Amino acid sequence: MSSDEDESMSEQEEQTKSGKEDNGSVLDYIMSLESVPSKLPPHLELLKTRVLCKIDAPQHTDTIQYSGAYAALGVDNSIRLDNFRQNFKVQVNRLTEDDIEFDMIGIDPALANAFRRILIAEVPTMAIERIYMANNTSVIQDEVLSHRLGLIPIGADPRLFEYPENAGNEKNEKNTIVFKLHVRCERQQPRITVKSNELKWLPNGSELPSEDIKPNSSSKPKTFTSFSCSQDSLPEFSGNPIAPRNLDIILAKLGPGQEIELEAHAVKGIGRTHAKWSPVATAWYRMLPEVVLLKEVEDELAEELKNKCPVGVFDIEDIGKGRKRATVARPRSCTLCRECIRGGKEWEDRVALRRVKDHFIFTVESTGALPPEVLFTEAVKILEEKCERVITELS
Ligand code: SF4
Repeated sequence: MSSDEDESMSEQEEQTKSGKEDNGSVLDYIMSLESVPSKLPPHLELLKTRVLCKIDAPQHTDTIQYSGAYAALGVDNSIRLDNFRQNFKVQVNRLTEDDIEFDMIGIDPALANAFRRILIAEVPTMAIERIYMANNTSVIQDEVLSHRLGLIPIGADPRLFEYPENAGNEKNEKNTIVFKLHVRCERQQPRITVKSNELKWLPNGSELPSEDIKPNSSSKPKTFTSFSCSQDSLPEFSGNPIAPRNLDIILAKLGPGQEIELEAHAVKGIGRTHAKWSPVATAWYRMLPEVVLLKEVEDELAEELKNKCPVGVFDIEDIGKGRKRATVARPRSCTLCRECIRGGKEWEDRVALRRVKDHFIFTVESTGALPPEVLFTEAVKILEEKCERVITELS
C-alpha cells in the first residue's frame, strides 16, 4: 500500500469517527430548528396520548412506539431519556399502614404493568412452608390446617433473611422462622376458637426431635433446625419479636378433649412459586380518566346529565337569570360505566370519555410483611436488577 492510500484511509476513519461523535449533537441541532415541528397536529396528538372510550368499545388503545411513526410529518417519535426524565412524575395521594395510592405520570403501560407483576409475583416475603404435626385430634384435617397456616402473613422483614436454597437447604437462624402451636380444649369445657395469636415464635429454633430419642442417652436430641444462635440475640429482632401480622385469623375450632400440637417453619419465597409468598393483597392500576364536555349542557339537560352519573362526576353551576350549566367536577371518580353517553347519538356528541395513556393511578395493598411504599421501591430494585442482567448478557 502506498503512502497516499494510507493518508486517505486515515482521513476517512477520522471523518467517520467524528461523524459518530457528532451524531447526537447534529440530531439535537436539527430538532431545535424552528422549521422542524416538535408536536403533532391536535387530532394526531389526541390519538397518540388518549384512549377514546366510545359507547361500544375503547378505540386507539395501543401506544405508538416506532421512532419513525410520524417521520412524514417531520416529528421525531423516538424515546429520549432526557424527555423521560423531564416528564416522569410520581405523586402520592394516600398512604396508610396497609395501602398506598399514587399517580405515576409519563410512563409506558408496559413498564407500569411490569411493576404490577413484580409486586404480585417477585417481591419476596416470609411464609410458613413446612408443618411438623405432633398431634391433631380436631375435626380439621392436617392438610387443610397446614394450608391455612401457610396463608397467614408473617410480620418479618424478608430482607433480613436468606433463601433456604442458599444454605443448601440447611435450616439455620438466617433462613427459617419457627413457630409453635399447642392448644387443647379440656374435657367438659366449652368449645374454643384457635386463632393466629396462638402461634408462638421459637427464637432458638425447632424443639421437636427429628430422630427417635434413645433411652438413657444423655446427649440432646437433634431437632429439625440447626441454629448457631438465638434469633432474639440478633440486633434486628431484639425488642421486635416475630409474630403473625394479624393476630385474629381463625385457624380451627376445638371441641372438648381435642388438641392441636405442631411446629410451623416459615421461609423466604416469592409469589411466583406460591401465592402465600405474594406481599400484596392487590396491586392494580387504572389510566387517568378524562371527561370532556364537547358542548355546553344547560338547564334540564344539565340536570339529566348530573343524574345519569352514578358516581357524581358532574356538577351544576348557576350561570345567572335562573339558568344552569353542567360542569365536570370530579373526573378522577369516573369508572367508565358510559351511562352519560347512552341515550342516543346526541349524548355521544355532548360528552367525550377518554383515558390518558401515560398516566396511571396505582393502588398497592400490602398483606403486612412490608409497608406498601417499601414494597414499591423493592419492585423498582427488582426491575433494575433485571435490566442490568439483560445489559450484561448483551454486552
Ligand atoms: S362514564 Fe359513567 S362514571 Fe364516567 S362520567 Fe359517565 S356516567 Fe359518570
